Amino acid sequence: MSQRKDRSIIKALSRGARLRCPVCGGASVFQTPFRVRPECPACGAVFQREEGFFVGAIMINVVTTEAAVLATAGLWLLSSAGGGAALLPILFAVALLFPVAFYHHAWSLWLAGDHLVEGLPRRRPGA
Ligand SMILES: [Zn+2]
Repeated sequence: MSQRKDRSIIKALSRGARLRCPVCGGASVFQTPFRVRPECPACGAVFQREEGFFVGAIMINVVTTEAAVLATAGLWLLSSAGGGAALLPILFAVALLFPVAFYHHAWSLWLAGDHLVEGLPRRRPGA
């Protein structure tokens, strides 16, 4: 129970947005640009969980991309630039580029959310 008191929403989401360990903030979640570390080298929090765990990260990326596409369309239509012919290629570009740009944050925020809900398990050498 005392572990639950250590979980602050602001801290965990802030660390997730900065791609840091949601538990301690001491290390990056990513080992290489497209590879999640198995665990945090600073506190031992396990980042690579069971098979299928990161389907939620994909869902966050898809939903956020849809929101970005809708926001872009709304802003385009509300602005005076609103020529309809240019809108579709712009939305297509947003739909292609946004998920690539948001990839790391989706994974990191999913980890932070899991830490807030359940708490990430810890793995210590020799423990
Ligand atoms: Zn950590």
